[in-house]
Parts: sequence; C-alpha cells; structure tokens
Amino acid sequence: MASSILSSGLCDHHCHLFLGCPAIEPDALDELDDLDDLELAEAAQVCAWWQLDRVQQQLKAFADSAVSTFVLQTVSLADFKLHLRVWPWLQQGPLAQRLQLYAGLHPFYVHAPAELQPWLETVSQIWQQQSTLKSSLHSPRLFGIGEVGLDKRHGMELKLQIALLDSLLEATVAWHLPYSFHCVGAHSELLALLKHYPQVTGTVHGFTGSLELAKQYTKRGLHLGLGRALLAPQNQRKYQQLLQSFPQETWHLESDFDGSHGVYDPTLLPQLTQHLTNLSASAKQANLRV
Ligand SMILES: [Zn+2]
Repeated sequence: MASSILSSGLCDHHCHLFLGCPAIEPDALDELDDLDDLELAEAAQVCAWWQLDRVQQQLKAFADSAVSTFVLQTVSLADFKLHLRVWPWLQQGPLAQRLQLYAGLHPFYVHAPAELQPWLETVSQIWQQQSTLKSSLHSPRLFGIGEVGLDKRHGMELKLQIALLDSLLEATVAWHLPYSFHCVGAHSELLALLKHYPQVTGTVHGFTGSLELAKQYTKRGLHLGLGRALLAPQNQRKYQQLLQSFPQETWHLESDFDGSHGVYDPTLLPQLTQHLTNLSASAKQANLRV
C-alpha cells in the first residue's frame, strides 16, 4: 500500500477535465486523428471552440487548490485524444507536473465491443512512445488505465462489458499501470474477472459497499476510492466501522469532479482528509475499547 495520505501530499485520485465538452462525442474529433501533430496553437483552438474561459477557470481552480496531484480520468477514446491534444498546453502552466493522465473506456461511453480496438491502438502508441524514450518532456505520459469497469444499469449488456474489460486487461496488464475501476451492481463479476489478473493494482472508484466487499477488494491489494459520501451525516457510522477495519492507507480520496458543471471545489479534498483523520482516530479509540 502507498504511504499515508498526508505524508505523500494531497492527491485527487479521480477527476475529469472535459466531461460535457462536445468534443467527447465520438464523431467530433475525426480531424484530430494524427497524434504526431500536437501543435500548441491547435490545442488552444480545441479548447477555444469549447469555451476556453471555462477550461481556464477549471484549471485555475485546480492550480489554486492545496491538492498537489490530480489524476485525470478519461472515459473514451475521444476524451483521451482531447487530453493528448491539449497536453503540451497544460504542461506550460502552473499545473505542469501536477497532472496524471489515465486512459479509460467507461461503460457509459462504449456502445459496441469493436470500440476497444481503436482505443487500444492509440493508448498502446502512447505507451510505446514513453517506453522507448521517443517522448519529450512535454509529451503526454500514461500514468494509469481508467476509468474502466462494469455497470449493470448502463451501457452494453453486462456479458459484453465483461468480455470487453477482460480483453482490455489482457492487453494492458503487462504495462503494470494502476487501474481505476467504475463498478455499479457488478462487484461479484468484477472480483471474478480480477481473479484472472492477480497482478492488477489500482482503485475501486467511489466505493460505498459493505465491510465484506471492502475485505474482498483489499485482499486483492486494491485501494478503495472515497469521495463526498464520506461527509454525509447518514454515512458516519458505516465509515467509522470501515475505518476500524481498514487503515487510512487503504483509501484513495476522490473529488469525482466531472467538469460538466460548476468549478472545482478546492476545499473538498482538505475536508475529506480532515474528516478521514478524525474518523480514523475515533475508530482507533473504539478498537482500543474492544
Ligand atoms: Zn469518473
């Protein structure tokens, strides 16, 4: 497990930058296919036709917050390509070295199994570039795979989602990158699939499950993602019980900021950290009393 939340600096393990941007619609980025053509002026143009002010406002809120690292999750090939396109531009500002890019294929955004192949081609290309020193300082760098996962309520039929995730894991597991898993109503299916990939590490995004489920994931070496749900008064008892069993290091804090409305709340991660520390302390005292 990683070092404690505070000693390693505040990390927002799950946020999005461009959700809501029309460019994420599958057909809109056709003209941006050429990965070698990462021109800064064009990158700025991509944002310009989707409210540059808005993106800059979001980036400023990121930059002004106490969070030292932002893990940018992506949901589709189009979303990932948009990040690739603006990456050099992002690296020129105050967020340089503070952003970690993940490549994802979110179940909401996949409509057919055939979408995996082009995603894999692009993501593999970036992976190969960074593995063979072809990349420059400002080249996009892949830090993880996410968000990916299973959702019983949205997207393709569950068995197709499982098959796609299986193929995605098979193709990427040798890269030894962390994953961010979205999972709704399909935890037993995800755990069953992960049995075939014991080397997989990462986070179960937005974990709100039971103590038993938490045990199964942590036994697998996965972290549990924790967001706003931690602050809800009705959840205090539940999280205190979870924190009695799982130390702070188990949890990865996530704003789950989705970029589609409002601006990043710079107070959220510090609030979550403080609350987690307080609940952990009271959980420890409760353990001593047992
Ligand atoms: Zn997300």
